[in-house]
Amino acid sequence: MNPRENECKACDGTGLLMDDEQWRYSCSVCGGDGIFNKGDSPEPDKPFDTDENKRTLE
Ligand SMILES: [Zn+2]
Repeated sequence: MNPRENECKACDGTGLLMDDEQWRYSCSVCGGDGIFNKGDSPEPDKPFDTDENKRTLE
C-alpha cells in the first residue's frame, strides 16, 4: 500500500487540521493518522467540533 496514494486530502497527510486561529485538532476525515483508509468514513455533513467560545476568546 502506497501511503502517498492514500494521503488524506483534508489534512495533506499531517493528521492535523488548523483553523483560522491556529487551533490544531485531529483530522476527522482520516482519524488523525494522515492516511485516508477505505475503512474511514468521511462525514462532510457532520459539523466540525468547533466551539463557538473560541470565537469569543480575546
Ligand atoms: Zn486527514
